[in-house]
Amino acid sequence: MDDPRRAIPSVDRLLAGPAFQSLLERASRRRVVEALQQVQGELRRGPVGGEENLADESLYARLVAERIERLERSSLAPVLNATGVVLHTNLGRAPLADAAIDALARVARGYGALEYDLEAGRRGSRYVHCAALLRELTGAEDALVVNNNAAAIVLALATLAGGRDALVSRGELVEIGDSFRIAEIVEKSGAHLVEVGATNRTHLADYAAALTTDTAAVLKVNRSNFHVSGFVSEATIAELAALIRGRLPVVADLGSGLLLDPALLGLPPEPTVRDALAAGADLVTMSGDKLLGGPQAGIVVGRAPLIAAMRRNPLCRALRVDKLTLAALEATLRLYLQPERALAEIPTLRMLRLTSDDIAGRAQAFIQRLAAAGIEATLQQGNSAVGGGAYPEALLPTCLIALAGPPPASELERRLRLGRTAVLARIADERLLLDLRTISPAEEGDLLLALIAAHE
Ligand SMILES: *Cc1c(COP(=O)(O)O)cnc(C)c1O
Repeated sequence: MDDPRRAIPSVDRLLAGPAFQSLLERASRRRVVEALQQVQGELRRGPVGGEENLADESLYARLVAERIERLERSSLAPVLNATGVVLHTNLGRAPLADAAIDALARVARGYGALEYDLEAGRRGSRYVHCAALLRELTGAEDALVVNNNAAAIVLALATLAGGRDALVSRGELVEIGDSFRIAEIVEKSGAHLVEVGATNRTHLADYAAALTTDTAAVLKVNRSNFHVSGFVSEATIAELAALIRGRLPVVADLGSGLLLDPALLGLPPEPTVRDALAAGADLVTMSGDKLLGGPQAGIVVGRAPLIAAMRRNPLCRALRVDKLTLAALEATLRLYLQPERALAEIPTLRMLRLTSDDIAGRAQAFIQRLAAAGIEATLQQGNSAVGGGAYPEALLPTCLIALAGPPPASELERRLRLGRTAVLARIADERLLLDLRTISPAEEGDLLLALIAAHE
């Protein structure tokens, strides 16, 4: 009989009341009404009988204002990444170089010769833009850029092996992340997956035994995000090429687009794109936003007739990149023409190259700024991670800033995450840990303000 929900005032009454007048000045009547109806619906359905006074008109005004503000706030909010994970997939992987941001902004603001050949004065192709640079940087005959590496693999297999067999080692049927699995990608391409070898060992003879007249390609997937050891073996790209070169294509999914010797980044040996092509891969696919340090993109380099066939595939249109990506990628690749510029100006490469001593110097100065604001912190040795499913085993020695609180680390982590500038950090042994490897010097001021706010 006395269901508290009966106390919910009508829309008309609420809109006419004083609590709603300022809201109606800020947002259109339609938006306010819709938000109000949603709020009322939730209160009707929700566990009523709690603390709220459902007759209080200001309750509705507050909930409607929150709903409207939530929509106006950006959900793709900038984040200060103090986790020390350089290629954080959930945080957008590689931050771009200034040259890439400038190129992107220039082409975003106006028109660009995306599909127009200025010399010939007629329609051109968007696929020419990064191709010459990629040929120069990798030694490939030709190159094609699509939306991401998953798209590159799908397009390559759909074009080369659609309706036929693609051989993949059982040791390489990996999950890349967020339930994206190589096996499913191969099937979605329309190629028929033929598993070869065993999880720990796949020999060249296993590939040879699996070859039939239906075989159209061999896919070799870089085990980029995990490490196997013990009783293991695999056939190399060179061995596979020796087995089938000229008859069937070898497609190598390198994962990360490593264009420079990893030793320059302080990382263990791994084949670069040029190495994979030189070893005999007919096509090599990679991401633009992993170790390459550019925008999200899938890059395919390799033999010209195969790339031309991929470009002609109607699927290419569905997987194509936009002008913003092409502009940012082209500017990033141009930096690689002078490797020392790439190392200095591409944030991913710069962050990977920082030594523990470099970081310790900055962390020490930062701790003094924290102390001046009354916040106590200490230095602690630790490791950063490459991330992005690359070099899972690599330890990058770093120097962490540890905050023991109060407030307790979990509460501090929550406040930083929800603060005006979102900050993500790590927690270990009930301490909040900040890694300046992934914070640029220009971001330190905002990090300091966020930490001060989280301690208030
Ligand atoms: C990351 C990765 C992919 C997927 O790349 P996206 O650009 O995220 O689509 C595919 N293969 C390997 C080996 C990878 O490491």
